[in-house]
Amino acid sequence: MMSKINCSVCSCKFNSKEHEKCTLSAIQVAPCAFAHNGSPEAETCCGSYIKEK
Ligand code: SF4
Repeated sequence: MMSKINCSVCSCKFNSKEHEKCTLSAIQVAPCAFAHNGSPEAETCCGSYIKEK
């Protein structure tokens, strides 16, 4: 079943490029490493990301 997580991170192995969706049923969102400044870009990233080979 296709998940309902919209994502356009094409370098991730779980990304469905043509549909810009995540193929996982759930993901973990986590703060980016060394980020403690409160900006959305730095405080939230996908902890389930795995680089596509
Ligand atoms: S695991 Fe994270 S980065 Fe990868 S496609 Fe899913 S939501 Fe996007």
